[in-house]
Amino acid sequence: MSSLLEGLSHEQVAWVSGYLAGLGAAPLAVSQADHVASRSEVTVLHGSQTGNAERLARALHADLMARGFAARLDSLGTYPTARLKRERVLLLVTSTYGEGEPPDTAQAFYAFLMGERAPRLEPMKFAVLALGDRAYERFCQTGRDIDARLEALGATRLHPRGECDLDYEEAARIWAEQVLKALAAESAPSAAPALRLVSSGPASDRAHPCPATLVENTRITGRGSSKDVRHVALAPATSLVFAPGDALGVVPRNDLRLVEVFLEAARLQGGEKVSDTRGGETDLAQALATRFEIRALSRPFLAHWARWTEAPALQAMLEPGGADELKAYVGCRDLTDVMRAFPVEGLTARDLMAALRPLAPRLYSIASSAKADPDHIHLTVGVVRYEHQGRLHRGVASTWLAERVESGAEVPVYVHVNERFRLPEDPATPILMVGAGTGVAPFRAFLEERALLGATGAHWLVVGDRQFRQDFLYQREWLDYRRKGILQRLDAAFSRDGGVKTYVQHRLLAASREVYAWLAEGGHLYVCGDAATMAPDVHAALIEIVARERSVAREEATDYLHALMAEGRYQRDIY
Ligand code: NAP
Repeated sequence: MSSLLEGLSHEQVAWVSGYLAGLGAAPLAVSQADHVASRSEVTVLHGSQTGNAERLARALHADLMARGFAARLDSLGTYPTARLKRERVLLLVTSTYGEGEPPDTAQAFYAFLMGERAPRLEPMKFAVLALGDRAYERFCQTGRDIDARLEALGATRLHPRGECDLDYEEAARIWAEQVLKALAAESAPSAAPALRLVSSGPASDRAHPCPATLVENTRITGRGSSKDVRHVALAPATSLVFAPGDALGVVPRNDLRLVEVFLEAARLQGGEKVSDTRGGETDLAQALATRFEIRALSRPFLAHWARWTEAPALQAMLEPGGADELKAYVGCRDLTDVMRAFPVEGLTARDLMAALRPLAPRLYSIASSAKADPDHIHLTVGVVRYEHQGRLHRGVASTWLAERVESGAEVPVYVHVNERFRLPEDPATPILMVGAGTGVAPFRAFLEERALLGATGAHWLVVGDRQFRQDFLYQREWLDYRRKGILQRLDAAFSRDGGVKTYVQHRLLAASREVYAWLAEGGHLYVCGDAATMAPDVHAALIEIVARERSVAREEATDYLHALMAEGRYQRDIY
């Protein structure tokens, strides 16, 4: 049995034995290189973590081509940096990840551009579109850094940097339109057809979700678990195209109980008339239930509130240097907590709405393969509930799905394509999957898909969670794959079974030689789960593994991993 599942105690092995006795797109097609020698030659590059920057870059590239420019599209991960000094017009779309980090695929390019080897770029004209999230202090940092560095290297701005928050579509469209105008003024491209400036994405999208019926909502953590994790299955009204690695965007509604306490804290009634999205009128309460983020506290809301209240405590955490304090404050509070602690008299519904962000869809990694179940989309939903200052806080989408959507009711959804988290094209390629908590979700899809394809490549799954007995998500499925020989190796790490905390990276470090051998032999590595601590800690463990097994310095090991990222052989889906 221990050969079936590594890293379990005798008691855990006995339990598993009992169970068994009782009884289962390809990376970006880059370089649509168009080598037509032309004075209108433009290169569009993207640095994308979840696919938004890539989609925008693709749309921009398509528009350029349609307007007669010899445009070339590439990912920062595969773009040959030696070309940089030959570029005449460079348009770069990049997101920022985590606490101001470049996306995984852009790490090596970023290090090159910021480093001493970067060339002078006098002949180049450029424009940068930066995607980010204003909730973070280092909003759009990667785009800002690249924009400043290109200028410092002598390149000229064709158009000022664009910066987009979570609802990026409109700002991105305006930026692209202006860049195209600036380009048209510079060159003389052929007569332009109508500008598309929209991404050629799937049939449903954020703005046009597809209704999906909730058909399953099953708790998959034990009764004694400290967590409530649900396996959710949805049947879309029209067939949605998705691939393993994609996520499902769920367009949620706020809890009416929260709308009530929120209004009370804002000292408003809810019946105030406000404009709706179609130029008509609606009640404030209705608008809050469906259109605005009223739970997750963010820097922009605090900035409004600090201005209105002039509260020194709020102002201090928004100052440079207040980031740690801000992070700790935002941690488990919501907007209602702030409004209660720092009340504002005489606020109008209009003022309040100006301070709120749109209610953003929530993305869940799809936990099923369309080949295995074409009619449903499965998700692994960790239900967010915690108490703070005597009030129960509930995650917007997770508790909506788990508690408030009745079985048979409809949920608006869309597929969020994630080209940056893809199975290898060749089914003979071995894959090593590392997932903590609900981060195992996409690996259920990966294994279903590869099992159906009869993939000959080996599979190694490393999972981590809190308690073996309560939180071993999908254990029966993993063990069945293991028993059938589809999964060659399964390692599990449990952090709250008493004694020392064991995490996924400890399992990787313990198998250092084998991990490196998988990578060296062409295997692909996938990491999914928490972005704040798990992913950086796993990355640090991988640096240690590569340094140890190749007998190289940490810097060289880091470069090795960046190269794997750039090749698409080390991919992460981290939130
Ligand atoms: P969780 O219980 O909070 O964490 C899962 C396991 O990871 C626990 O054993 C935890 O240990 C451990 N852990 C904590 N810190 C770690 C570290 N630095 N390195 C390695 N392991 C560490 O998990 P969850 O509530 O399921 O959340 C998982 C995360 O995945 C969330 O951030 C979620 O947003 C993200 N995610 C979800 C999906 C999805 O589709 N559902 C997809 C991608 C990402 P202790 O808590 O005992 O220390």
